Amino acid sequence: MKLQQSDLAALSRREFLATTAGLSVAAAVQPSALAETVPAKSAPKMIGIQVGSVSFVDEGVEQVLDLLQEKAAVNTIFLTTFTYGRGLAGRQIPGQLFPDHGPQQSDENFFHGGNFATPHAEFYRSTILKDTRAPDHGNLDILEAVLPAAKKRGLKVFCSCEDAWRSSVPGFSEVAEIDLNGRKTGGQCLFHPDVRNFWTGLVTDLSRSYAVDGILFFNERNSPLLNALGASHAQSIESGRVTCFCEHHRQAARKLGIDPDRAQEGFRKLDKFVQQALMGQRPDDGYFVEFWRLLVENPDILAWDRLFDLGKHQVLAEVRTAVMAVRQYLQVGFHIEHVNSFNPIFRATRRYSDLADKADFLKVVVYNNCGGERYAHFVDNVCSTVFRDVPREELLRFNNHLLNYSQDAALSDLPQAGLSSDYVARETQRAIKGVEGKCKILPGIDIGIPTGRNSRKASPEDSYAAVAAALKAGADGVILSRKYSEMRLVNLAAAGKAVRDCAG
Ligand SMILES: [Zn+2]
Repeated sequence: MKLQQSDLAALSRREFLATTAGLSVAAAVQPSALAETVPAKSAPKMIGIQVGSVSFVDEGVEQVLDLLQEKAAVNTIFLTTFTYGRGLAGRQIPGQLFPDHGPQQSDENFFHGGNFATPHAEFYRSTILKDTRAPDHGNLDILEAVLPAAKKRGLKVFCSCEDAWRSSVPGFSEVAEIDLNGRKTGGQCLFHPDVRNFWTGLVTDLSRSYAVDGILFFNERNSPLLNALGASHAQSIESGRVTCFCEHHRQAARKLGIDPDRAQEGFRKLDKFVQQALMGQRPDDGYFVEFWRLLVENPDILAWDRLFDLGKHQVLAEVRTAVMAVRQYLQVGFHIEHVNSFNPIFRATRRYSDLADKADFLKVVVYNNCGGERYAHFVDNVCSTVFRDVPREELLRFNNHLLNYSQDAALSDLPQAGLSSDYVARETQRAIKGVEGKCKILPGIDIGIPTGRNSRKASPEDSYAAVAAALKAGADGVILSRKYSEMRLVNLAAAGKAVRDCAG
């Protein structure tokens, strides 16, 4: 069945279930009734796919599950349950070709986001962020709609929850980060108690109220040093907007012996350095020396940068602890963002073994098609400031060595060339070694992630090669990314063929 947007407002949750799955509301059950979901000891490789609620609404629950099982050999659904972002939710993003399924019409005008399940008020008593119900599909609770049908088929279901917000959410401005110049931003302070309580409340609610198999948590926000330099693939260079200097953040700093005022002063100097670099005003000793001198003379810059990571990782740990408190055998995984692959400075701030202590699995992003343009963007950004004295092609080659990439495309060709399946294999192996057997590695595979007009688009050959490379490298499974509503069926089928050829 297909549901029109206009139908949904009038359709009650129970009616939707009756017409979609033909089942009673079985999802909202008590923990004592969930013992049968304990995973088997010799579980097969986890073949997951990220799907937003709109796809089930547009194309029908049973139809989508049929297709994912038959074409892509999927055994796990990563169902986007909380986000205000379009990377995991909504139809194809505006400006991109629609895939060969679902409506050929943008949801740009009615996409909102939030919690696509039902927030139960008792879990949000300790946070100001109480009103997050996604209005996109009327009264539909996407977990109640999908869980019974998925369970009947033996599919596992994880809730994807992403730290991506709208500033119009009630209470948001109370917990917003404060930037270097005292302005509120579009991100939330990870040291604000209401933010901490929101995340633990959300994952407790989802784990306790529904028969899910676990949580996949996404937080792609970067630390202030990387933000100041734009040292990622999808960033502008905003050294004057780095965060966070709110009172909660300052308190956390003082407890660790970090002086907030000295840190702020350091970031002001860094802002000046970046702005002068962007204008081509070369320091007498060159860009890199001046940058390194800034770090040496202002150690609070790095201390403040580490503080952000500390807050982010504390949230991860608290999320896992909260889920474990509901049911020990639920699994919690973390999405490890793409910058972890491109940026050697970021790599140095992460140890896979530390992340593994907090997780049952890591979804390591190894998106290879869009990886070309993203990597090129990273090199362009760092060559605008810290490495401005280095010719870009030379920096690219140097960085390839630092990162153990085998790619040999020139910078100008990288967006069209993409990265290879060898890249997928190498990054998968690095992660497997890094976690030292303490958690599973599920590489995130690029199946048609949107790219620029002249950049590489996913093909069946690419999709097959990437999935095969990850599995042959020893991954515990894969997660087809970013969302079903942007994937072409021919690419999904190629991914499925690779699973059937290699996962046995
Ligand atoms: Zn703060």
